[in-house]
Amino acid sequence: AILGSTGSIGTNVLRIVEAFPDRFAVIGLAAGRNVESLAAQVARHRPGVVSVADQDARERLSTLVDLSGVEVRVGVDGMVEVSTHAAADMAVAAAVGAVGLVPTYRALEAGKDVALANKETLVMAGELMLARAAETGARLLPIDSEHCALHQCLDGRGPDEIRRLLLTASGGPFRNRPRETFDRITREEALAHPTWKMGPKITIDSATMMNKGLEVIEARWLFGVPPGRIQVVIHPQSIIHSMVEFVDGTVLAQVSVTDMRVPIQYALSYPERWDAAIGGMDFSKAMQLELGPPDRAKFPCLGHAYRALEVGGTAAAALNAANEVAVAAFLEGEAPFAAIPQTIQEVLEADAHPAARTLEDVTEADHRARERAREVLARRGSAGTRSGAPAPLSL
Ligand code: MG
Repeated sequence: AILGSTGSIGTNVLRIVEAFPDRFAVIGLAAGRNVESLAAQVARHRPGVVSVADQDARERLSTLVDLSGVEVRVGVDGMVEVSTHAAADMAVAAAVGAVGLVPTYRALEAGKDVALANKETLVMAGELMLARAAETGARLLPIDSEHCALHQCLDGRGPDEIRRLLLTASGGPFRNRPRETFDRITREEALAHPTWKMGPKITIDSATMMNKGLEVIEARWLFGVPPGRIQVVIHPQSIIHSMVEFVDGTVLAQVSVTDMRVPIQYALSYPERWDAAIGGMDFSKAMQLELGPPDRAKFPCLGHAYRALEVGGTAAAALNAANEVAVAAFLEGEAPFAAIPQTIQEVLEADAHPAARTLEDVTEADHRARERAREVLARRGSAGTRSGAPAPLSL
């Protein structure tokens, strides 16, 4: 079952599925409003259930493809039906944003293995997700390239043998841009990522380095390593996808071409490795790998992520919500680039962040932080309340 099947991860998941037709059957697909792409996927894979954003998308889908034998659902409830379908062994969580939270949680609760590309899930509710997975025995397999790299380097070793997790970061398009010009960064400049091709939200997160901050939070939950032992390393070539330093001083790095199919296939084939039609590294030519520390002053989002982990409770959910609202405002041309870290910081400082005991605690924190972020943006003179901002999450 694939959540977010028409996005950049989802389409690559389907490429792997199509490369190994004897190993996979597509049980369910969930997309948002890109019904043209979804229609083509339905025609090709004939899933038993699909889900789209709303009634309008459902009607448009029905005009594009024969839906006999295909149940069509809408909204988060529809996504849950896809992710928990009785016939599915694994759910791929590749929807972008907070919308992936509930369907992923329900999948773990139902004992489905989850191949996880949706960052927000662990960022918002890491502790709860891990608890559900532990109860049902469901496996959480990271698709994000950095966490896949850590997963590969660790190869089953636990926190006691880990000295540090070293998350590599390309540094984004503004690594070498002077800090005092950050307020003039345009949408187009921020969307031009040097190495990975990704959706707009994640590309902006990469430009602010919030993407790496979210990954630090994810790594903390996935591998049970406290934040003080998770370090970010700038590596512009994106050849080393992350490293683990073990307690004996050995560092293992995972290296591969920058093709999302590598981590996706690893998650889908784990614990096996399958022969892939993906190119390998070319060591016949000279290459240089740069590694260095991040500039924390230029990219305050990184510090905000560590701060959210330190505060604990629902702070990371608030950080994520504030980031989503601020990024949407920037993409709509309603807020400058520098407003993104500032909004997050103000939201983190504005409220107490109580413990997250249930998913409702998390969604409440999400709502509160979104409102707070819109207030902050409105105060700055940017209309962060327009329809472009993502809708609050509902259960
Ligand atoms: Mg990543």
